Amino acid sequence: MEEKRVKYFSLYGQAIFITNIWYKFYKNCSLICLHENEYTAYESALEICLCEKIPFTYLKSSGSRNIVFKTQNGSIEIDPNRIWTDKGIENLLISDKNANDVIALLKEIRKTIIGFILDNSINSIISVHNNYNKNFNILAYYHNPVYSYVAENIHINKNISSGNFYYVTMRQDFETLKELNYNVVLQKPYNAFFDDGSLSIYCSINNIRYINVESNFNDYNIQKQMISKAIELTS
Ligand SMILES: [Zn+2]
Repeated sequence: MEEKRVKYFSLYGQAIFITNIWYKFYKNCSLICLHENEYTAYESALEICLCEKIPFTYLKSSGSRNIVFKTQNGSIEIDPNRIWTDKGIENLLISDKNANDVIALLKEIRKTIIGFILDNSINSIISVHNNYNKNFNILAYYHNPVYSYVAENIHINKNISSGNFYYVTMRQDFETLKELNYNVVLQKPYNAFFDDGSLSIYCSINNIRYINVESNFNDYNIQKQMISKAIELTS
């Protein structure tokens, strides 16, 4: 049995829709797509959700990667993958005088998505992304200090594009994916120092199994294969 639940928010004329496709008899993982313009991630996750009956939550707003609010004082741009802890929201440093309204809304959005993705027996989150920046790939966890300080361990298969990789929070998943020779990064255990408000940090804090499937735009086959493997691991 399939059910589609939609929650709608609006602030300063900007609409935000959170949609959840839910199944009564599902496996214990949930798919999520936070960045609206990452179309390969969204289409791959939707196809697998409908074929394999895996719950899927996604966000739609202005069509861009970030949520953009236009206020009288300019615009406020929010990365929906930085709202998962209060510290993350604080770090957004919203200086606009309408900041309190935006912060309250972000907390509501967070609560809604958590309610959807962790419904009933779900204890694993598979987050699906595409690389929008050529400099962001698994090698960034080696070379770029912005990313490398969160990596506990990295495994690279040189025959796979560096844009196609997993990012996980549990060592058992890292070891399994390494054994299967996928590109994979293991996040360090939670430390407030690197709390950037991302969903992986929320999952670390709350002891939820988290697997991020990151692929190049248009690598549909690879992304779908990686999502299916992640579902298999969590089942
Ligand atoms: Zn993304």
